[in-house]
This record gives sequence, structure tokens and C-alpha cells, in this order.
Amino acid sequence: MRLDSNLAFSDYNHLRDLFNSRALKVIDMLELFIRRIKEKTHLNAFVEVFVDKAREQALESDLRFVNKNPRPLEGLIVALKDNILYKGFECTAASDILKGFIAPYNASIVEYLLEAGVIIIGRTNCDEFAMGSTGEHSCYGAVLNPLNPEFLAGGSSSGSAAAVAAGLCTVALGSDTGGSIRLPASWCGVIGMKPTYGRVSRYGLIAYANSMDQIGPIARTVDDLAVVLETIIRKDRHDHSMSIKNEGFKYIKEEYTDVKFIKIKEFDEDPNLNPYQKKAINDIEVILKSKGYSIDLISFPDIQHIVKAFQLLSSGEASSNLAKYDGIRYGASINKGQKPIEIITNNRSALLGKEPKRKIIFGSYALHSDNYDNYYKKALQYRELIKDFIEKHLQNNHILLTPTSPIIGAKKGETEEFFEQYSLDFYTVIANMSGTPSVSIPVGYAKNGLPLSIQLTGYWANDNQILNIAQMICDNISL
Ligand code: GLN
Repeated sequence: MRLDSNLAFSDYNHLRDLFNSRALKVIDMLELFIRRIKEKTHLNAFVEVFVDKAREQALESDLRFVNKNPRPLEGLIVALKDNILYKGFECTAASDILKGFIAPYNASIVEYLLEAGVIIIGRTNCDEFAMGSTGEHSCYGAVLNPLNPEFLAGGSSSGSAAAVAAGLCTVALGSDTGGSIRLPASWCGVIGMKPTYGRVSRYGLIAYANSMDQIGPIARTVDDLAVVLETIIRKDRHDHSMSIKNEGFKYIKEEYTDVKFIKIKEFDEDPNLNPYQKKAINDIEVILKSKGYSIDLISFPDIQHIVKAFQLLSSGEASSNLAKYDGIRYGASINKGQKPIEIITNNRSALLGKEPKRKIIFGSYALHSDNYDNYYKKALQYRELIKDFIEKHLQNNHILLTPTSPIIGAKKGETEEFFEQYSLDFYTVIANMSGTPSVSIPVGYAKNGLPLSIQLTGYWANDNQILNIAQMICDNISL
């Protein structure tokens, strides 16, 4: 079957039905996506489409359907952020310094997805080394928002969110260190989830800040998100940070009538919060209350320091993670200089972008023995405060309700200012610093067509609970 590529992706359910009834083959669906990617190159969502390999996989997948032995995710067409290794293909983390680097092995989640029968359509653009919140800090250029291309897609998993929103794939994988799945999902009007830290293997993810990095899915429906989580949440002996009890994950649909919500007073009073976004949160509160849920307002004045503490910790980890990019061992080199130190300095100066350089300098400063006690150690202590807050207020089925992003979009260059850009992570980093699960869902639109969203953050390992509540909210709003 040849599909008209203009078939609106709002007609997603229609496509889904065709696919499920097998009226539409996997290869038809793939060809549709490939045509659309070509038509929408202006979005800059993909940096490479694995046309030949994906076609091969789609044909194999169709054959398994014919032979009546489909796998759990048979035929699901998935895109990978350009920081997740896929054996035999280039992976650059959108950095010039990794141009030409071919992944020597598959990330564990890639292994799991392939075993489950997915088709990997391509790799998506992102902020360099996943550093950024807008999607404009990439060596491939900025990713535009499919809902309104005058605006950016949000970052750092910019291409993944834009690809799902524009109907260029079914599901995309991203990484979230401080909001990088949830924030672009929020700006592009799709659903994005950061699972509980330690439930999804980081093996084969190019590290930014190991203690907070987490891979997760971006999709149009909670069900799509959940099937992917069922496949990627798995204990992996390659990732030793998976210390929590991890026996896999099964999405169980439950009502969770005993859930209670909390809001943080200082978030509520944030002067930077967009008025449309503020109204969206209030509307959701009305719905929740009408369904009998309680919402408590809790004051946490120290929350004002959260972005600074996050920056200290993430930059500190980044400065040591990025030390290995010297342009000698792998990736690109400008081949200038005599002594190794000259070659390394020249490569790093020429090939690393502005944002990673900022993080390396800032992180090295914070970790220096003269400064450690004043900065890095304080940020570590602050992180304990955040964990205490979660322990105290989110146990016993409490969920933190917040916006995902203070603003609903930005144009290129608008948030260039150091602190302006970092303040975009105000609501998201709490889940990374504590390791809790967090999901962003679209709940409406502003006048300019840009989406509004809310974020649900749950207690450790309550991934199933926040997914169910996300579904309940989606069922109660009309988009
Ligand atoms: N915007 C944050 C930063 O640049 C977080 C990015 C992310 O989650 N990868 O550090």
C-alpha cells in the first residue's frame, strides 16, 4: 500500500489501526516515514537516516508477521538520539570532535529493542553532548519546532521530540540529564518520560553526567511510551549504577485512586512562568480536584538554588567525562601541532562547541582543590536536601505536579544568556538530582500554536503510577 505522505499525523490512530490490522505493512509505514523525513528536512530533526538497513529490518519484520511469529515490538519504527550507540553507524553526540566515530558495539537498549523487533530508522539531532535546553547547540545546526517552525524544538533531545511530533517515526529515544527528554517533548507537544534512575541501562550512551543521565522514550501516546519502557527497563550487568532492585517493568493499568498531589509553593510563584502555562496547570488542578484528588501546597524555599547546584554537579561530571575527547584516540582531528599537548589543545579548541567548553571550564573550576569545599561539596550536600524532600513528601503515593518548562518556546539566540538558558531547567532537574521518575504530557495550546504541558514526578520506582496518572489526565482533556 502506498500512503499519501500528507496523511495527517493527527490521524495517527488511523495509521495505527491500519498497521494493527496488517492492512499496512511495516515496509509501507517505513517508506511513508522516509518520504516525510525528506519533505521535512527544514526541521533538521534527523542527522542520518539508515535507509538500507531499516528497509532490510522492515522486510524481515513483515516476514515474521507472515510466519505468525511476531516479536513484542514487531514493526515499531524507532529513532535514536545521536548519543546512543548503534553498531556500525556513526555516532557523534552532535559534536565536530566525534565526526567519523563509528559505534563499535550496540548500546544495551539498542540490543533489547532490536531483539523485540523494532526498525531503527535513523539518528536524531541534539544539543552537543546533550548539553543545552533549546536544541540550538548542535554542530548540525538548530532543530525547528514542527508545530511552529519559527520556534526551536527544545533540547537537548531536540530531533527526537521533533521527529515524533512531525510524524517522522513512531517513537524516539532520548537522554535526560536535567530535563532533556521532557523539555523538548513539552515544547513539541508530545509525551516524554525519564524513568527512575538505575532502571534503564546507560551502557552505550555517550556520558554527560553519569549520576543523572538516563535514557527514555518520547511518543504520542502513553501506551507507546509504556511498551518501549517494558523493553528497555531491564537489569544489565554492563551498568553498575543499576543498583536498585530491577526486575524489569510491566505496564499495569490501574486506577490509583489513593494518589495525592503536591505542588511546591516557590514553583507556583515563579515570576518567569509563562501565563498560558500557569493557566494550564490551574486547569489541570480543577480536573484533578473534580475527580476527588487532593493537592497540597508545600513550601521549599531552598528550591531556588536547584539550577545552580545542578550546574555545578553536571559540569563537574562533564569536565571529567569529556577529558577523553582529544581528537587522537577517536573521532576527528585537525592535525595541527607537534607535541601531543599541542595537538590535543588545538583539537579541543577547534572541535568542541561553546556549550561543552563552558561546562568543562566551569566544572574544572568547581572541582579544583581550592574550590571544591565551597562549590562542588555544597552542591552534593544540596542534592541530599532534594532527596530528603522527595523522601518526606513523595512517599505514600504522592505525586509532584509542576509545569515542565517556564516558557513555552524560544527562537534561535533568544536564551543565549548563561543563566537565562539554564533557568529553563528549573522544574525538571529535581527528578535528575533525586533519580525519581518524571513524565511530561501536553495539555493544551497557546495562541501561537505552541503546546502547553505539565510534569508529573513520582517516588522512586513509581514509574507505573505516574504513567497511569498521565493516561488519566490525557483521557480528561481534549486536545
Ligand atoms: N539543559 C541541561 C544542561 O544543559 C540538561 C540537559 C540534559 O538533560 N541533557 O545541562
